[in-house]
Amino acid sequence: MKDKIKEVLLKEDNFLITAHLNPDGDAIGSMCAVGFLLQKLNKNFVFYNQSPFPQKFSWLSLPSPWSQELPSNKPNWLIILDSGDSLRIGEDLQPWLKDLPSINIDHHLSNPLFGTLNWVNPQASSVGEMIAELCADLNIKLEDKLAEALYLAILSDTGSFSYGNTTSRAHYWAGEMIANGLDVGKINALLNQNLTLNKLKLMARVLGSTELKEKGQIALIKITQKMFIETSTSIEDCEGFINYIRNLQGVKIAASLREEKDQTIKFSLRSYGDINVQKIAQELKGGGHKNAAGGTLPGPLEKAEKILLTTIKKNLTI
Ligand code: 5GP
Ligand code: MN
Repeated sequence: MKDKIKEVLLKEDNFLITAHLNPDGDAIGSMCAVGFLLQKLNKNFVFYNQSPFPQKFSWLSLPSPWSQELPSNKPNWLIILDSGDSLRIGEDLQPWLKDLPSINIDHHLSNPLFGTLNWVNPQASSVGEMIAELCADLNIKLEDKLAEALYLAILSDTGSFSYGNTTSRAHYWAGEMIANGLDVGKINALLNQNLTLNKLKLMARVLGSTELKEKGQIALIKITQKMFIETSTSIEDCEGFINYIRNLQGVKIAASLREEKDQTIKFSLRSYGDINVQKIAQELKGGGHKNAAGGTLPGPLEKAEKILLTTIKKNLTI
């Protein structure tokens, strides 16, 4: 399938590049990398995402302006990145998915192959790793801004090459980028030095009220709209909180519940090793990977908490 995608990229023109809502480092980095790749092929493209560009990645060079509005002219092709299912691209783009041919590049096991051309590799640590491979196939050197974007993508999804999904390919491509002059120290500093005092205060509140359930096997945090208002923060400020509670001694599954503005509840799950949280998320109509998954539940928070804990307990082999 990668060869067919290569063919389309070389032959066709006028692409719209997108990724999942509330884009993370893999989604943003992969979007930028595909943009730089198309730039090298002298193709026209636009960026689109229903969500705003996360402030914490403001240091990243973008090959095209970020747009939360659909372009007035329809593109010829959609390129959809890092989206485990078609709903993840947001409702505004849904009608175009029916009308236009699409390229779906993803690494989620449960991806239902919703595109016209689907390249889904659950073995890949990140979509960034897949785009690196695509660039190499097209003889595009992994250097400069393209390399920074890909490095961000791989770094984000592998937890800086620490999670179980870290492949030798991820290290290999990073090695190529470093050989081509990527400044690893600079990127890591730009990526990590984004902590604000407000975020720190939110973190103190959220992590300070961590709860342990099922004899310490489940760790749970809850983030409410009230907390965001009182600390002048937003959803992008709570990314990564769950990783702290995953490291609590004896914890098998870390869970977080976040109250959204529309009263729905976004849940996230994390584990290590053989404990499969993707299965739990899928039972609740979400998705993800074996050790990192999520989804949305109806509110209020207390009701979502009950549903989530019941489903986790059912899947925990005690
Ligand atoms: P996070 O907990 O960081 O939001 O997401 C962890 C993983 O679960 C990511 O790979 C993400 O794609 C997936 N995920 C999160 N929310 C949803 C969702 O609502 N639906 C699906 N299918 N996957 C999700
Ligand atoms: Mn990803």
